[in-house]
Amino acid sequence: MDKALSFELLHKDSKTKARRGRITTRHGTIETPVFMPVGTQATVKAMKPEDVEKTGAEIILGNTYHLYLRPGSDIVREAGGLHRFMNWNKSILTDSGGFQVFSLGQFRKITEEGVKFKSYIDGSSHMMTPESSIGVQLDLGSDIMMAFDECCPYPSDYLYTKRSMERTTRWLERCIKAHTNTENQSLFGIMQGGFYNDLRRISAEQIVEFDLPGYAIGGISVGEPKEQFLEILDSCVDYLPEDKPRYLMGVGTPDYLFEGVENGVDMFDCVLPTRLARHGMAMTSYGEVSIKNACYQRSYEPLDSECDCYVCRNYSRAYLRHLFKSDEILSSMLLSEHNIHFLVNTMAKMRKAIEEDRFTEYKKEFYSKYGGKCEL
Ligand SMILES: [Zn+2]
Repeated sequence: MDKALSFELLHKDSKTKARRGRITTRHGTIETPVFMPVGTQATVKAMKPEDVEKTGAEIILGNTYHLYLRPGSDIVREAGGLHRFMNWNKSILTDSGGFQVFSLGQFRKITEEGVKFKSYIDGSSHMMTPESSIGVQLDLGSDIMMAFDECCPYPSDYLYTKRSMERTTRWLERCIKAHTNTENQSLFGIMQGGFYNDLRRISAEQIVEFDLPGYAIGGISVGEPKEQFLEILDSCVDYLPEDKPRYLMGVGTPDYLFEGVENGVDMFDCVLPTRLARHGMAMTSYGEVSIKNACYQRSYEPLDSECDCYVCRNYSRAYLRHLFKSDEILSSMLLSEHNIHFLVNTMAKMRKAIEEDRFTEYKKEFYSKYGGKCEL
């Protein structure tokens, strides 16, 4: 149906389900597996778009819920769409707002029509429906739009999860009808079904029927134990078609990225690298580092000796610690740039390893160093 996106499967790792692919949108190519930095409020926090681009990022996320409430999608549309509004010329994926309506929306009420919620900004009442979510995403002009779905809280019982999954399928059908710009924008469906294998299979069968250009796995990484995450992920991926990109929503810790890629996932997003940065935390080849630690007071080494980002080429840990301790804005800017670069670059190394059929070896190599937390 959509003509705005294509996916090529370039290579499959010989020992795992990991795969190397390429997505092409109207705003360029995206080498997969890919990590997508999150720009919630039409900005990747504390970073200029040109600096995000310098990290090697080829696609970022915009947030439908936040941009709908403020400034309003009509303003973004009038400004020429989200790419122009925020000065980002590569690809953009927008979520549907569903996750935020369910997790942030106070006094929410779910009906077949949609979800009623109160704004976290001024308490005003709103209704988000499959049609209005797609309407907002059409205004934003994202390359990849996500279907409006219901993400069940963890844990949820079987009957609730089943009804919610079935409603997500009915909402997907309405999203497809509301999608009027198939020349320029693509719509991905979202698989739900909680932690019930049979519901995941049924959900996948139902959404794949619509022959969409890509599919996301929603409703996992919602607070469950890691073993349960791995178990359901393994079967979820097998239910999705091989010739379409697969997106695991809201996952961004290195261990989950490796597990996702190993299981055949192509796309990931998470606020983690920029959020950690604002708390003085760096993701490095040797694990997470808290720049606040007194041991870095006289450390004139780069943050990560194996990183070639702008920050590691030009600044010392001592300086970064000083900025953080002095509450300087530059602290968040520099740590965000390094953290985004670290994840984007780790994905580039995973892609190379897949091409060379040594994904498992690379994973072991990564973990042999990354194991330690908060120490260099
Ligand atoms: Zn760096």
